[in-house]
Amino acid sequence: MSGTALVTGASRGIGRAIAQALAEEGFTVACFARDRAKLEETQALIEAARGKASVHTGDVGSDSDLEALVEEVNATHGSLDVLVNNAGITEGEPASKISPERFREILNINLVAPYVLSRAAHPIMKAQGSGVIINISSVYASQGVANNSPYCTSKAGLEGMTRALAREWVKDGVRVLGVAPGFVRTDMVANAFGGTEVEKLVVSRIPMKRFGEAEEIGRFVAFLATNKAGFVTGETLVIDGGQRSLL
Ligand code: NAP
Repeated sequence: MSGTALVTGASRGIGRAIAQALAEEGFTVACFARDRAKLEETQALIEAARGKASVHTGDVGSDSDLEALVEEVNATHGSLDVLVNNAGITEGEPASKISPERFREILNINLVAPYVLSRAAHPIMKAQGSGVIINISSVYASQGVANNSPYCTSKAGLEGMTRALAREWVKDGVRVLGVAPGFVRTDMVANAFGGTEVEKLVVSRIPMKRFGEAEEIGRFVAFLATNKAGFVTGETLVIDGGQRSLL
């Protein structure tokens, strides 16, 4: 495939793997996050594999950063064919301890930012007559997980928004879909469990008895971004080693 893909949170973890996999599919990948040095590492990895990438810094919590980002990517590359809303945060705190401000902040990063970016990308994709928006959710969207209320809320909201935007924009040639990973070996999981006994317990409960690798999510997302998955829209597809269905 040719065209331009924009990936948020491409400085590490799942977002970096998605950026690499999209570049392997032939997309020029615009990599967005706050940490320029880490984004340049992603760019170097892509270029070492003969792909094309650009680096864009900003905060997904800022509407103006996101609107400027979409304009910059379209102006630099001349199209916006794929948007992957991947940047996300979590916090393991009981609902009684987390502050309303922090709850709102997590919703803002995980749910409102994907809306702001999708809203900015839509007119460009509509004018092109094609586009794909992929929202990175989590199995926590459909599981009740203690000490994760803002995260579960944000990801459940993201899946609802995915269905609504898919219905609204199908007439414009824009597919909107989601991917819901189970546990994937990244900083997010290392910060949550970091080699503790809890990590062993969590792994023992996954039917495949392992965490997923970021590259496995990257390849799945890149496939969904191509015309090979051209009949898929509105759905959020689970990739979790059997965690949600086989317990
Ligand atoms: P990660 O390793 O913590 O990376 C998070 C990424 O998001 C980084 O690139 C970070 O970049 C970016 N980011 C965070 N806050 C940002 C902000 N305010 N502005 C711009 N960029 C921001 O996380 P991950 O594990 O790769 O997770 C990626 C996505 O997958 C998230 O949406 C997460 O909820 C979802 N997910 C992860 C797992 C898992 O097990 N790892 C499971 C299910 C779903 P900077 O710090 O450079 O800004």
